[in-house]
Amino acid sequence: MNEKKELIGLLKEELSSYLKELGEPSFRTKQIWQWVYFYGKTDFHEMTNLSKNLRLKLEQNFILSRPKIITSQQSVDKTKKWLLEFNDGQRIETVYIPETDRGAVCISTQIGCAMGCRFCHTGSQKLTRDLTAGEIISQFMVARDEYKEWNIEGEKRKLSNIVLMGMGEPLQNYDNVVKAVKILTDGEGIGISKRRITLSTSGIIPYIRDIDRDLGVKLAISLHASNNEQRSQIMPINKKYPLPELLQVCHEYQENHGGYITFEYLMLKDFNDKISHAEELAMLMKKYQINAKFNLIAFNPWPGCDYKPSSNNRIHAFSQKLQDYGYAAPIRTARGQDILAACGQLKSEKEKI
Ligand code: SF4
Repeated sequence: MNEKKELIGLLKEELSSYLKELGEPSFRTKQIWQWVYFYGKTDFHEMTNLSKNLRLKLEQNFILSRPKIITSQQSVDKTKKWLLEFNDGQRIETVYIPETDRGAVCISTQIGCAMGCRFCHTGSQKLTRDLTAGEIISQFMVARDEYKEWNIEGEKRKLSNIVLMGMGEPLQNYDNVVKAVKILTDGEGIGISKRRITLSTSGIIPYIRDIDRDLGVKLAISLHASNNEQRSQIMPINKKYPLPELLQVCHEYQENHGGYITFEYLMLKDFNDKISHAEELAMLMKKYQINAKFNLIAFNPWPGCDYKPSSNNRIHAFSQKLQDYGYAAPIRTARGQDILAACGQLKSEKEKI
């Protein structure tokens, strides 16, 4: 091996083949894997069942670092947000959103985003680069460090779920996302089950078919509109992959994996928040036979954005209408509003300083 390799983000078979190059037997892979992904060690010298000679070899050939925590903020509602910096100085945000007895870590997959959704602050920033598989996984590892959740049983973990929906469109970074999910779900390491991982996408249809085949994680769609024309106004991707086709693919995904499809729906004042829009949504779900759950999200406006948040009354009436049709439609308040937890905002605030 010529130069030091990032160890986090290597699949087991890749790690095995590097160890083979170093003259090590394949059973070392499992030992190292457990130190890294089960015990969360960041120092090869703490891997006490490996010989001193091997620890030294590992140190000379691999990097085992975490991204640097630039800021860490906790909201009054206990939402926690980290601004993380990678080796090249690029920064992303990772958010932990607690529920009563568990919670989800919301992970970014790209720096910036190329999808250009008009309501999204991240979308107003250009795509800088994709994150590597190691950078995607290490966001969750930082959260586990902070909550001291290495080497504890699944049901006792607060960080029980992962949502791939921070900055970026996960399906535009397909290979790294697939690799990251394979490592996150490995039972000898981090061990988060597939049904606790949700991938949220703006709707890149061919890749939804691929995750259907390759991963089978839970699917969430950034919907934000109740008809095709309206969706095209705020999400450019809809022109390439129109809503009817997207819903057909959602139907097929659900046929293959059961459960329900989550639809994220940002409540935008006078744009998509009328009762007629709720009725339209319900009709669409009936037409495509989708067992849908709607997350109605209160909009957190950002400077320069064209949209305003819907009133509480409207959001509640919208939710009630969907429930009348038999769909779960919980209202998600903008969590961590006091620390600017809406998509992309913390990074931008820091950059202005
Ligand atoms: S909503 Fe998601 S896909 Fe759309 S611009 Fe924002 S980060 Fe990208």
